[in-house]
Amino acid sequence: MRVDYHTHHARCGHAVGDLEAYIQSAITKGMEQIGLSDHMPLLHVDPATYYPEMAMPMDELPRYVEECLKLKEKYKGRISVRVGLEGDYIEGCEDKIAEIVRAYPWDYVIGSVHFLGTWDITDFRQVHNWEGRNPLQVYERYYDAVRKAAATGLYDYLGHIDAIKRFGYRPQEDVTDLEDSALEAVAKHGLAIELNAAGIHAPCKEMYPSLRMLKRAKELGIPVTYGSDAHHPDKVGQKSADAKALLLEAGFTEIATFENRHRGKIPV
Ligand SMILES: [Zn+2]
Ligand SMILES: [Zn+2]
Repeated sequence: MRVDYHTHHARCGHAVGDLEAYIQSAITKGMEQIGLSDHMPLLHVDPATYYPEMAMPMDELPRYVEECLKLKEKYKGRISVRVGLEGDYIEGCEDKIAEIVRAYPWDYVIGSVHFLGTWDITDFRQVHNWEGRNPLQVYERYYDAVRKAAATGLYDYLGHIDAIKRFGYRPQEDVTDLEDSALEAVAKHGLAIELNAAGIHAPCKEMYPSLRMLKRAKELGIPVTYGSDAHHPDKVGQKSADAKALLLEAGFTEIATFENRHRGKIPV
């Protein structure tokens, strides 16, 4: 894979290694572009009383961007560093998110649904929230949030679009229509999605999204990029050969790239 647009680093509290280590790992792996996309600071829950080590504190955000921009300059000619943010979509916080999106010179902003209310559905410490809930209702709420995220106009692409499957909780009912409704919203609003390799190591044991959704995305003309979602420098580009094979199987010949909030493309 020539690019990796989804990486984290130590600032978020649950990843290892500084930004530079991720860039160097990408260079070692022969990549042409590396996207830095750490988690947006928490907005709607109090970091002092919520689960620890979720995201960088708000006062770190300017330093994060400054360091990214410095590294972009430093590595010019060796690898193209793209400065991004994994921006959560949190219903009701659109104005605050917009402020952060407008405040910095991002190359791209990923729109990811992690939160349903105060429940981070991607956090293994919060898996107990599935107990006593109807999985279909959770899926409906999740995909409602994904459709709303697509409609905000704040993001360049949606991250791990079917992350709700992460811990293996799946409704008995068919969720094809729900999944497709999210993809249709992405297509309608001119966004892209990512093929996120991290799901391979989660209980769901497959990338985000599934091959079926990837094929549907292709039918809808949705561009796709690749992201490792690395939380350790060694994981940059993880499972990229498998990702490439999936993309080709779904019919993609190009991969989306992002610079200065414009989308480009390169061959897979
Ligand atoms: Zn993370
Ligand atoms: Zn995420």
